[in-house]
Amino acid sequence: MFERVKMKRINDHIWLMNDNDEATGYLVTGTEKALVIDTMNGYENVRQIAETVTKLPLMVVNTHGHPDHIYGNIYFEEAYLHPDDMALAREFFEEPMFREAIEKANLKPAAFRPIQAGDVVDLGGIGLEVYLVPGHTPGGICLLDRRDRILFTGDSMIEQTWMQLPESLPMEVFLHSLDALKGIRGEYDFILTGHGRGLEDASLYEAHKNAVQEVCEGKNERDIPYEWFGGVCKAHPYGREPRRIVYR
Ligand SMILES: [Zn+2]
Repeated sequence: MFERVKMKRINDHIWLMNDNDEATGYLVTGTEKALVIDTMNGYENVRQIAETVTKLPLMVVNTHGHPDHIYGNIYFEEAYLHPDDMALAREFFEEPMFREAIEKANLKPAAFRPIQAGDVVDLGGIGLEVYLVPGHTPGGICLLDRRDRILFTGDSMIEQTWMQLPESLPMEVFLHSLDALKGIRGEYDFILTGHGRGLEDASLYEAHKNAVQEVCEGKNERDIPYEWFGGVCKAHPYGREPRRIVYR
């Protein structure tokens, strides 16, 4: 029924949605509500996809304001995003190709509602707490699901973290953001990232933070060029392939 988005069951109430290997979203169901974490590229109706596994009322949280995490907001009435990423998200909603496509389909992006550090998204039986992690973007958040011992990280902590973007913050700021997550390290065993294919071990946190620290300290002798759609920048490899901190 859906060509691009494939659902993968993580446990009895969490699904990974893989949008054509280009974007990843998640669906978490509680007893009262279900939560869509990131709506992916928007080519297919994320609401209908979620409704194939749950009839609960749906809520949407965007981990940050990048197109591959928010364009599917067109299928919803409202979506939560940290205020520090709202200007960025609105810029992406103004992209001419996106505008043209949604006007043709008679759709418009969901209204944004603010979500803040310390907020808890209560689904009934499961609460996800919000942590702000400025770095990849200014308003990127992680969501901690204490019951399942899972941290949803968006693109804030991922095998290849992109810090070369114009909207990315200085590496020292990002290191500080990661340091601030130290206090919850004992509360999750697994990480689900914004482009993942399944559960990552929680030790990604230490490996990733050490790598960011090495970049801050100028330990660049193993760094390699990194090609992306904006040109060529640098990448700091860490741990097993293909782990890299990408920066300018
Ligand atoms: Zn991103």
